[in-house]
Amino acid sequence: MAVTKHALCGLLAVASCGPTPTQPQTPEVEWEGEWLRFGRSPDLAPQCAGVAPYMDRYVGALAELFDVAPTNTVDFFYVDDQSTPCEALGCARDNTIFSLVPVQEHELVHAVRSFEGFSQLMLEEGAAELWGDDSRAFPFRSDTTGDLLTVPDLASPDGLPSREYGVSGRFHALLASESPDAVRQLLRTTSPLMSGEALSLELSMATGRSLEEWATQFASYPACEHREYRDPMPTCQSVPTVARCDGGEAIEIEQYVACDDEQTLGPRDGEIWKYIAVEIEQAGTYSLFVPPDLETMQQGTVTLEECRGGCGSIVEEMAIPGSFTPGRSFEATPGRYLLRLTVPEFEAGWIRLWIEGSCE
Ligand SMILES: [Zn+2]
Repeated sequence: MAVTKHALCGLLAVASCGPTPTQPQTPEVEWEGEWLRFGRSPDLAPQCAGVAPYMDRYVGALAELFDVAPTNTVDFFYVDDQSTPCEALGCARDNTIFSLVPVQEHELVHAVRSFEGFSQLMLEEGAAELWGDDSRAFPFRSDTTGDLLTVPDLASPDGLPSREYGVSGRFHALLASESPDAVRQLLRTTSPLMSGEALSLELSMATGRSLEEWATQFASYPACEHREYRDPMPTCQSVPTVARCDGGEAIEIEQYVACDDEQTLGPRDGEIWKYIAVEIEQAGTYSLFVPPDLETMQQGTVTLEECRGGCGSIVEEMAIPGSFTPGRSFEATPGRYLLRLTVPEFEAGWIRLWIEGSCE
């Protein structure tokens, strides 16, 4: 199918980001997992140790989410400015990704989607935003409100204007929460060559609701920025779960965040970070406690988020060095939660925390 020949622009999509006729040089593959191979331009500093294994697991989680059987590996090439064929931070050329940063889940979504063929770009970019990375470096991700009716016509095979990523992603969140089967169907049956009008027709047929009806619902759907409405479930399925309690008591969770740690990711946006998951078994009142380390005065941020995603899912975020008193209390529903432990790129260190609350 012709559409699979198209380069798909990444986060900084621009109109000129079309296919190029020659196959770019690719670096040597330095790591190979079950689903993903990873290579890096030789003059780039090595990525953190957790990157390639994490993205490998992430591809597996996405394949399950989309019910797609990968027919090949995803090739992720971490490249420098001179070696990228993209006019963006990254792009997916079918299942081959070129990226200026070593970890970019947004492009992994495109690469996994490529096994069935890319969809109309309002849906394609919406899916990549909803199930992709949580980088906060892009201003267009803050504004997720806008006129949904105009977006399908703005998508073309050459790209979707980046200012529309926020609306497309948040609409995808609404669509996926109301009609998950229709989302999978639309991702399969639409193509980048499809006009906005044709997409509207497909949407009506798949969901029983017109674009106008969806736009009305979208206008009253909770609005929040990208990192909160996004669905972190593929991450939650790709990282280890650590114990929160021992017997009846909350225990200290101690984690080393450093590029040579096998779970640590980055660098991206001047940060390195790791994700770990915790289970909260009982509904109730909880609070996050991150005491400062007076010796190191480690800098960074601890973010606690419900794996369900959606507006309101980030229940706590604390800058570190923290405080000798717990953070604000929050009402938690039972389920899996994601901790993001973030430190500046060159300030690796230990982070200790508790989650106070029921250990029954
Ligand atoms: Zn994209």
